Amino acid sequence: MLFNYSTIHGPHAKQKDKQKAEIFSCIANSGPLSRRDITHTLKLRSTTVSNIVGELVADGLLREGLSKNLGRPGRPDLSLSPVFDRMSAISLFVEDRYLIGSLIDIGGRVLRQAQVYVPADGGNEICLEGVDSLIKTLFSEVPTGCELLGVGMSVVGTVNTGRGIWVNADRWPEIRNLDLGKYFQRKGLNFVLRRNLDIELEYMLEKHPGSRKENTILFHWGFGVGGAYAYQGRVLDSPFGRVMDIGHTIIHPHSDKKCRCGVYGCVESEAAIYALLPTLRHRYPDLREESEDIEKILSYPEVFEIPGIGAAVDTVGLCLSNLFKIFYPHRIFLVGAFIRNEKIVGRLEKILLETFYPKMKDTVHHVDLEVIRDGFTGCTWANGYPFFRKRLKELLSGNGN
Ligand SMILES: [Zn+2]
Repeated sequence: MLFNYSTIHGPHAKQKDKQKAEIFSCIANSGPLSRRDITHTLKLRSTTVSNIVGELVADGLLREGLSKNLGRPGRPDLSLSPVFDRMSAISLFVEDRYLIGSLIDIGGRVLRQAQVYVPADGGNEICLEGVDSLIKTLFSEVPTGCELLGVGMSVVGTVNTGRGIWVNADRWPEIRNLDLGKYFQRKGLNFVLRRNLDIELEYMLEKHPGSRKENTILFHWGFGVGGAYAYQGRVLDSPFGRVMDIGHTIIHPHSDKKCRCGVYGCVESEAAIYALLPTLRHRYPDLREESEDIEKILSYPEVFEIPGIGAAVDTVGLCLSNLFKIFYPHRIFLVGAFIRNEKIVGRLEKILLETFYPKMKDTVHHVDLEVIRDGFTGCTWANGYPFFRKRLKELLSGNGN
């Protein structure tokens, strides 16, 4: 399932809109179902179910199949299934130096996936060529009769969400003010550009609906150090295109370690993968700056025997502690190559708790750390949310359209 369809209208919607969303949700999650099954499960009047199902079939969101009581006396009760490929969206996100594109439908199915490599010295032109080739590949796979709603893209670095401009990224220093909004406008496609950490947090909130009532942090530690924050389910953004720039807070002002942002003594200059690479290569000379290599080393059970790792964990532990004292979140989601090792997470938790001062402990008794093991794959689906929510909200209202 892509997200919880039954909550698409919010708490103050009209009763019929809510019922329509509930019926679609019920069939999408447990179909095929008959009208009688739905009437029974949702405790609705049979005429209400019949009318709404009629609209959903006419809108193309449901398909009627064979009778569920074939050969038995009485009126046939046709089974109803969801038509997930009624609409689709294209999702683009970055992982390492790849742009990954997926064509997804409203059932959360990936209909096609493709990727292109953008070299470290690739600039606007190469990146745009990559985007263009992904869009062409995925566009050609949109099933007949399926509505393509738009393209959602999430990237690293600074993002002008309002205009769809990728301002810059440490990972690709040559990318400057890449106007993706203009490209998609020319293509006639709706487009939304966001920061990948914000999108991953949106996905986690959808996966843990209870978190929408809480305050949550997503903390990333891998090729860089960064985060996102949601206040009662709302991911906070900034007109400057960056938020929670914790990786570039300066912790050693007199340090001689230059950060990739250009200044000295940032958290990243002590703990990001690129900063640790020279130290790690003393022991592993053939180490490549690729997830595969880095994750292999970091999964080592005696990880603290690797030079540089202990100091990096201590730095990030303090960083997390400072974040905690600023936001006091109910929960911290952790993502990135380092946190896949339980020993590292254990030490981070220990540092956090040790840095709590006595009066704080009167109300804060523990820290809810939750590890996201599968990286940024949540972006695949969450990039499509705004398009699917908007269109489904229209179709799952009163008479649809
Ligand atoms: Zn920096």
